[in-house]
Amino acid sequence: AKREGRGNFQFFSPEMNAATHEHLLLENRMWGALHAEDFELYLQAQVSLDTGRVIGAEVLLRWHDTELGSVEPSRFIPVAEESGMIVPLGDWVLGQTMALLAQWQREGLDELRLAVNLSARQFSGGTLLARLDELVAHHGIDPSLMELEITETAAMRDPENTRQLLRQLRARGFKLAIDDFGTGYSSLAYLKLFAIDRIKIDRGFVQDIEHNPNDAVIVAATIGLAHSLGLTVVAEGVETQAQWGFLRDKHGDEAQGYLFSRPMPAADFREFIRLQVQP
Ligand code: C2E
Ligand code: CA
Ligand code: CA
Ligand code: CA
Repeated sequence: AKREGRGNFQFFSPEMNAATHEHLLLENRMWGALHAEDFELYLQAQVSLDTGRVIGAEVLLRWHDTELGSVEPSRFIPVAEESGMIVPLGDWVLGQTMALLAQWQREGLDELRLAVNLSARQFSGGTLLARLDELVAHHGIDPSLMELEITETAAMRDPENTRQLLRQLRARGFKLAIDDFGTGYSSLAYLKLFAIDRIKIDRGFVQDIEHNPNDAVIVAATIGLAHSLGLTVVAEGVETQAQWGFLRDKHGDEAQGYLFSRPMPAADFREFIRLQVQP
């Protein structure tokens, strides 16, 4: 609770101390957690609105700490971003994702795509391309089975650098998606500037789509715009049949959300797919 009123300003508020303490605690434990393999990839299905079939999944990082229990990404990702830990952590995610794709390939499950989240730091660090080349060669995977998600905020930090890097990634065959579309700024400008494949409509526009006419208009127009630019559209956070129906009627391409699947461990996802392909 915020108690300090006017004239009662505390430089170190209890809230601030708690936040700093939390930050330090998480930062300290994160390195150990990475070495102890306390992180795990969870997968959330992406489903074709046309056919209802799973076309791939988004990789979402989970941390099961021996002392802290489960730590939510909304707690640890910002700390990792700030401390720079997101670079080795993100690197681990890329390697694990490719290892999983390679495993699926050996099992004949060779059409499912995996999307990974890239942080702004990874994206603008200058080593991403070389590192991805190294990992692709090591795991022997087809880069077109991998989608890289970047947020518009990350993309717009240095638009010229982004433009060049996206071109090079695309030349390798990687698929590129803009995440949380509509929540940053100059969304429309970079659609023309950047060579991308997909946009992910943020959950914020989807959640009230049935009741909020503005959101409905924005989503329908975004799908139309994306299609006329040759891009596909994934809607995030689809939780209800009504949202699914709206997106399908507006010719959205894919949906992701609790309606279809929660994020789950890779082994569970494998089972989920196996059950789905039964006639
Ligand atoms: P995001 O990339 O926008 O991921 C979507 C988030 O929405 C995920 O939260 C997912 O679990 C949640 N979600 C999916 N469907 C639904 C739904 O139907 N309803 C609701 N209410 N939520 C849904 P999560 O897993 O907690 O991740 C939060 C954020 O943490 C992600 O947002 C992403 O920005 C970041 N993150 C997660 N994994 C990674 C990673 O490996 N690297 C980086 N850099 N960031 C990551
Ligand atoms: Ca994402
Ligand atoms: Ca997102
Ligand atoms: Ca989001």
